Amino acid sequence: MTHPAQPIASHFINGEYVEDTNGTPIPVIYAATGEQIATVYAATPEIVDRALSTAKEAQKAWAKMTGTERGRILRRAADIMRERNHELSVLETYDTGKPLQETLIADATSGADALEYFGGLAGSLTGEHIPMGEDWVYTVREALGLCVGIGAWNYPTQIACWKGAPALACGNSMVFKPSETTPLCALKVAEILHEAGAPAGIYNVIQGMGEVGGALVTDPRVDKVSLTGSVPTGKKVYAAAAEGMKHVTMELGGKSPLIIFDDADIDNAVGGAINGNFYSSGQVCSNGTRVFVQKGIKEKFLARLAERTGNAILGDPQDEATSFGPMVSENQMNIVLGYIEKGKEEGARLICGGKRADMDGYFIEPTVFADVTDDMTIAREEIFGPVMSVLDFDTEEEVIARANDTEFGLSAGVFTNDFSRAHRVIGQLEAGSCFINSYNDAPVEAPFGGVKASGVGRENSKEAIKHFSQVKSVYVRMGDVEAAF
Ligand code: NAD
Repeated sequence: MTHPAQPIASHFINGEYVEDTNGTPIPVIYAATGEQIATVYAATPEIVDRALSTAKEAQKAWAKMTGTERGRILRRAADIMRERNHELSVLETYDTGKPLQETLIADATSGADALEYFGGLAGSLTGEHIPMGEDWVYTVREALGLCVGIGAWNYPTQIACWKGAPALACGNSMVFKPSETTPLCALKVAEILHEAGAPAGIYNVIQGMGEVGGALVTDPRVDKVSLTGSVPTGKKVYAAAAEGMKHVTMELGGKSPLIIFDDADIDNAVGGAINGNFYSSGQVCSNGTRVFVQKGIKEKFLARLAERTGNAILGDPQDEATSFGPMVSENQMNIVLGYIEKGKEEGARLICGGKRADMDGYFIEPTVFADVTDDMTIAREEIFGPVMSVLDFDTEEEVIARANDTEFGLSAGVFTNDFSRAHRVIGQLEAGSCFINSYNDAPVEAPFGGVKASGVGRENSKEAIKHFSQVKSVYVRMGDVEAAF
């Protein structure tokens, strides 16, 4: 019998599901059991071409609609997503292995928030009137045209919506390529947008690995590329987009600092460290994986952290009692286990976890290393798994310098009860998305994105509008034209 996760077809183009089994088969593996639950086929060059040409054509009429009309469709899609939240969350759990406890509140709901928020903004995207004496200049906020979205595997529904919603609100069309590791959820986003009334061809989904992503990025019909992925992929995609002078948004990796001063509320700080390292089994780009703890509270912090980490419930992700799921794939599990071995070899002190869990699927125990130093591999490289590095520090000045000593700059957090210190420290940290006495909140109203190697551009909030539109300025002369001859 077909597994319920098996989609109707691999691609969604021009308002309908499309299958083409000539493409390379991509098995979809349920990370909690290792069983194959679905198969999709990578887009052939013919499918890539069909998706791009349909999106290019459909965009013209979409951009001519009023913002209010476009927004109404996005808001209707948000309502449908909320109505279908349970079903979409179950699918998200099959796609990623993340526990239903999380997916019920963090995925389709976050996607719906983006559709609702940008749907609401769509009618208010206006230009300016700039008086020039008798003359004037007016500006028009225009769509970019055809946008490509390329997703990572940790939040397949959310990423499809965080890119699609602002793109469509501004009058663009989109071809979205999900990660080959989690190809299922974006198809549902396309289906729902069309059910809500999006014209055929406005939002298309095609499957494939890096080659398909590369074909999309280099196609001359494409005006903008928005990627969520790793820094090495980001460098390649940014360079390829630059060849065609395309707009880009790059949401890339991180190795973010979470700084805990000794006056912080310990339980809140431990909660922040847990949220910033173990949510989605650590597969979150903005995670605060370098936890700097001031020496005065170090042992107390570690003891409370180990105690609370021991409460994680590993198990069947479709069971709502489970609070900690597997790695997305066997490959990712092996990468993370490799980092854990490096941590042990390089002399970090293992506080808890440190191995594959003794059960089916790709589970790794939530792992905490203490006495980590800045030069250790686990403190320098993005692990993208449930591995927290705790480092000690003495002074504010020292910890700011050490926190910034990285190529990345996605996020940063500070826990302290001294609010002037909190703002002073955050002001000096080189990061795009920051938190005070909290960690990893990502509401659609707040800009999200990184500095340095962690990215270019911002998702969410009004900032995202700037990255999915461009400004035309028009000078209007009321009098005669003076010319030299
Ligand atoms: P990845 O870089 O391996 O792949 C990302 C996407 O790019 C996939 O869809 C992949 O098929 C595609 N791709 C690969 N090579 C390509 C090429 N040459 N041209 C075009 N597309 C190509 O990343 P991943 O392993 O799927 O995801 C994990 C990474 O994503 C981590 O580094 C994580 O930090 C990052 N991430 C960032 C954010 C953010 O918002 N900043 C969010 C989630 C994940």
